[in-house]
Amino acid sequence: ARILVTGANGYIGCWIVHELLDRGYSVRATVRTDEKACALSSLITAKHPSLSPGAFECDLVPDMSAEGAFEKCLGGVQGIIHTASPVNFEMEDPEDYIVPAVQGTMGIIKAAAKHQTVKRIVITSSVGAVAETLRTPEETHVYNEDDWNDYAVETVTALGKAAIGTDKYSASKVLAERAAWQFYDDNKDGLSFELCTILPGWVFGTVLQPLPDDPPSPKHITSITVKLAWDQLFAMPPPEPFLVDFSYVDVRDVADIHIRALEMEEAAGERFIASPNLCTWQDWYDAAHDMDILPRLSKIHPPATSTEEKLPYPRLEYSSEKAKQRLGMVFRPLEVTLRDTVDDFRKRGWLQ
Ligand code: NDP
Repeated sequence: ARILVTGANGYIGCWIVHELLDRGYSVRATVRTDEKACALSSLITAKHPSLSPGAFECDLVPDMSAEGAFEKCLGGVQGIIHTASPVNFEMEDPEDYIVPAVQGTMGIIKAAAKHQTVKRIVITSSVGAVAETLRTPEETHVYNEDDWNDYAVETVTALGKAAIGTDKYSASKVLAERAAWQFYDDNKDGLSFELCTILPGWVFGTVLQPLPDDPPSPKHITSITVKLAWDQLFAMPPPEPFLVDFSYVDVRDVADIHIRALEMEEAAGERFIASPNLCTWQDWYDAAHDMDILPRLSKIHPPATSTEEKLPYPRLEYSSEKAKQRLGMVFRPLEVTLRDTVDDFRKRGWLQ
């Protein structure tokens, strides 16, 4: 089957493309520029030297907010994984997040509704669409797929440009996902496809995406979450801890759950949170000490000496039980993500 993947050169998109090809799918990847198409094609050819002709191709969609932007991409496509969306916390105008997020999502859904060859659409949402990631609750609370982050939308509506970046980003994820479900619920009977949304927590782990070679360095990584992990684990001098506690998921598990969502009957019409690992940065430092993989850490971040330095209370948790039970997800533990990230960065010459 042929699967359309948007945002294919991004941190998550690239892993999804790689996994799909590994599992025998054909992939049509959308990116914004010729340069990005070339870089992605070279990477895929290097990773998959014996791909059959036509198993991987790139389509250019320079502006996914434009009317009908995805319509030309859907010939022969049976499934869609839509990851493209602005991911940063720095833009001033909330519309710069919301317009591409909502119009990109609706553009692809409406194009699929016209085409009628698509059987499943999987959209990458975020736990930011469930609850505000950076706000520690007054009491420990476990959020699930019934929750929506209305707070972000209300705050951004009230404050506009003055809202914080994470609220603007989360609002764009809420509005895009809600618009998708609204359209799906209103038109379900006439659609060829079923919808599923995946809501990852912070995504960490090894980097696959093409990086410019001048030479490639951590500064070229597009994912703000990988940059964050890089800073928290390896930067000198060490920055202030950015988050007290947070939950994250390995990028390879994110790719896996998107493909399960594409394939499994149980995924149809459902949201799935993928944010299994609740931790603090101290947990990462302690794991690195236990595994003895970053000796220089001991001076910067000594091991925790008391349990108070470990997980704080109250805390904000997202339940990933539904993904485990219905989709059979088995998520990688922190030690595996840490070990493979360190190996990856070391092989690239980014760590001494
Ligand atoms: P990246 O920034 O690495 O990739 C984002 C992708 O989206 C890139 O291909 C980018 O294209 C594309 N994109 C961004 N803005 C636009 C736009 N205005 N028009 C068209 N394409 C655009 O981020 P991730 O891979 O981490 O994120 C992918 C998805 O996962 C997003 O939907 C994000 O919200 C979601 N997500 C990510 C999490 C994380 O921790 N990383 C957590 C939860 C959800 P280009 O390279 O041209 O800019």
